[in-house]
Amino acid sequence: SLGNETAKAELGRASWKLFHTVMARFPDKPSSDESQALKDYIHLFARLYPCGECATHFQQILKKYPPQVSSRSSAAAWACFVHNEVNVSKGKPVFDCANIGDWYDCGCADGEKEEGG
Ligand code: FAD
Repeated sequence: SLGNETAKAELGRASWKLFHTVMARFPDKPSSDESQALKDYIHLFARLYPCGECATHFQQILKKYPPQVSSRSSAAAWACFVHNEVNVSKGKPVFDCANIGDWYDCGCADGEKEEGG
């Protein structure tokens, strides 16, 4: 079908927001289990992304640039880089990844280890 570019862009913005916010909240020093969980999350995000052509395209990017899951900063920088790969393929400007650490705020007041509340 012709698709709906407005809906596709809206889904993209919402998805990138979640994607980068997940990276911004990933531990600085993750356990191997946490690193594996992020790797699985990224691959499943790419595989199940609702826009089929986007999913195919993003899975190709992941093959070329495997997820970096050893720390928060490496995960955030990697996510910024692969989003830029999509930006470039769409003719969009490249985002400056230098300040990525301050850009994505989950709005949650809880500390890293708090559970609930
Ligand atoms: P978006 O690219 O949605 O970005 C939203 C905001 O994030 C920007 O306004 C900016 O503040 C910030 N941002 C921009 N670049 C970065 C970066 N590198 N790192 C961190 N933050 C950044 N659309 C297609 O037409 N074809 C595709 O193949 C395609 N593949 C996609 C694959 C995935 C996994 C996702 C999540 C989306 C995909 N999209 C695709 C949608 C596309 O990437 C955009 O989301 C959509 O075109 C809307 O673009 P936008 O200009 O509003 O900004």
